[in-house]
Amino acid sequence: MKIMSVNAGSSSLKFSLFEMSNETCIASGYFERVGIEGGFYTIKFNGEKIKEEVEMPNHVVAVEVLLDRLISLGIISSLDEIDAVGHRVAHGGDKFDKSVVITDSVMEDIRRFAEIAPLHNPANIAGIEAVQKALPNVPMTAVFDTAFHQTMDKLNYIYAIPYEYYEKYSIRKYGFHGTSYSYVSKKLAEIVGRDDLKSIICHIGSGGSICAVKNGKCVNTSMGYSPLDGIVMGTRSGNIDPSITTVIMDKEGLNASEVISVFNKKSGLLGLSGVSNDCRDVENGVKEGNERCKLAIDKFVQSVVNYIAQYYVELGGIDALVFTAGIGENGPEIRSQVVEKLACLGIKIDSEKNNVRGKLTDITADDSSAKVFVIPTDEELMIAKDTLDLVR
Ligand code: AMP
Repeated sequence: MKIMSVNAGSSSLKFSLFEMSNETCIASGYFERVGIEGGFYTIKFNGEKIKEEVEMPNHVVAVEVLLDRLISLGIISSLDEIDAVGHRVAHGGDKFDKSVVITDSVMEDIRRFAEIAPLHNPANIAGIEAVQKALPNVPMTAVFDTAFHQTMDKLNYIYAIPYEYYEKYSIRKYGFHGTSYSYVSKKLAEIVGRDDLKSIICHIGSGGSICAVKNGKCVNTSMGYSPLDGIVMGTRSGNIDPSITTVIMDKEGLNASEVISVFNKKSGLLGLSGVSNDCRDVENGVKEGNERCKLAIDKFVQSVVNYIAQYYVELGGIDALVFTAGIGENGPEIRSQVVEKLACLGIKIDSEKNNVRGKLTDITADDSSAKVFVIPTDEELMIAKDTLDLVR
């Protein structure tokens, strides 16, 4: 059975095609500059990387090009081979606590939640509609980034602001990266051979969050109503005093959404270092003696440590600490700086085992109080697995 996972962004479309009998990725690709002049795509297939420039005025055309190339490149011989399509959807509000088969009423809900996720859900909808148009008889599912976090207690998702805002506007913590946490927590249970585990998972990439997981379910997570909250990220500030917003509005002559855009796009590692939002560039800056790069990395590490400490207490100790996503999988330096600060909890890693990139590895030191793992995430495979479960 072949299942395709699709992740449509506002000007992009990513896909992975899986053969589910052995969970292997047959081909994957990234279509960029959709709706913008100068479109192009890259498709990885059979160890080759194919790149072509092609104008894609909208997602419908991007999907047409994608399906056409799947056949012309010999990846599949007919579109009938695609048994189902799973779509990443950013926001499922408080309605969806798991993935679902897409129906008209599901689409209505996804449209409704676009109000809470104006940057993401409209693009996801465009992707779904484009694939539905091209493959009208293929079952499709929606896999929500928020669903995993629906098990949080109200105590953890409610904000201490007037309660009517929660009732009237659904303003509460939702959390994101749920598909990644779902994949990684299942993988962790598989490795350890138990699912009654207390763990803290650090999904740290250009966007990042931390999640406290008990018995495979989310207890708390660092992103909030939007992905702006939580740890310091590539370009996002993470949690800050909200009153700063009006100060910057006054001083810089910006309106509220412009200031939020500064917090989303010009802050974090980029804002502090003044060099880059890419962790590698900022780490290189540290090596060259750039003080602001050092401050940026230290602040980033500190923010991760603060959440681990909080969740350690909330969970009453942990069995495992897990690092995943771009920095978590490929940044031994950052991992070691984080874990160094956890010494008082008895959590320690083996520096030799920690010298690893992008590979599932147990990096625990012999005398550590909890296991520490690097587990590469695979959100696309998780989407395909959920889709298989739903359509089977
Ligand atoms: P993601 O959003 O999960 O793709 O992660 C992107 C982030 O991972 C960027 O900040 C990269 O700098 C970071 N990253 C990738 N490789 C490394 C590495 N070898 N060391 C440190 N950070 C890395």
